[in-house]
Amino acid sequence: MNARKGEVFLVGAGPGDPDLITIKGRAILEKADVIVHDFLVPKELLSLAKEGAEIIDVSKRGGEHLMEQKAINEILLERAMEGKIVVRLKGGDPFLFGRGGEEAEFLKKNGIDVHVIPGVTSAIAVPALVGIPVTHRDYSSAFTVITGHESADKEKEVLNWNALSSIGGTIVILMGVSAMERNVKRLLAGGLDPETPVAVIEKGATPEERIVTGPLSKILEICRKESIKPPALIVIGRVVSLRETLGDLR
Ligand code: SAH
Repeated sequence: MNARKGEVFLVGAGPGDPDLITIKGRAILEKADVIVHDFLVPKELLSLAKEGAEIIDVSKRGGEHLMEQKAINEILLERAMEGKIVVRLKGGDPFLFGRGGEEAEFLKKNGIDVHVIPGVTSAIAVPALVGIPVTHRDYSSAFTVITGHESADKEKEVLNWNALSSIGGTIVILMGVSAMERNVKRLLAGGLDPETPVAVIEKGATPEERIVTGPLSKILEICRKESIKPPALIVIGRVVSLRETLGDLR
């Protein structure tokens, strides 16, 4: 019998560039007995695993789950019960979408020690790297991060799109490619200026990064023309125009 109790570390892998993981995150990756990771995690980070570590890919692509959340929870629980150090590696920050909170709850309820090692979220870092600060004294005093598609089991929308359109700050939409048409319409209907600048960044902070920009009224057409695909992040607001002066900031 193994008396040692395992632990689960929810670790943020950062926005795409493997060097943008935290020092603490990197250290625990090197110690882990098991690494359970998503599709968005930079593959270079997996090579930090110690010899013999078990690496489990539970990729989710664009809402289509390859592995049910329940099955992922069970894997984390089982391995922890075996006394192992389990790293649950997630893109960006583990508690910004991506179900980190749900996993932590489940594990806590089952008596497992859970730790979080926050990460550099794509919501701030991906715009930053292409020259878009999400706030700026002259242009935006707030930013709101939303999901482009709300959980499929929610019958009605819970977000107040009219409020979102009138708050006057930057809006960052994650998982927003497939429902872009619907969401652009909602923002225009809510009174957001059709000329508001928008940037859409595909695979930010990676060598395959692509970026398109345009006014809110034309962005859908532009994305279609360029066939922008997930994972991509949408930034809406006056701060987007700062890119013209700042350019790429890597
Ligand atoms: N926890 C993550 C977000 C998970 S939701 C974080 O903090 O960054 C997944 C969505 O994040 C993707 O659909 C996409 O909209 C966005 N995203 C994550 N990494 C990205 C990247 N490198 N480039 C563009 N968008 C990204």
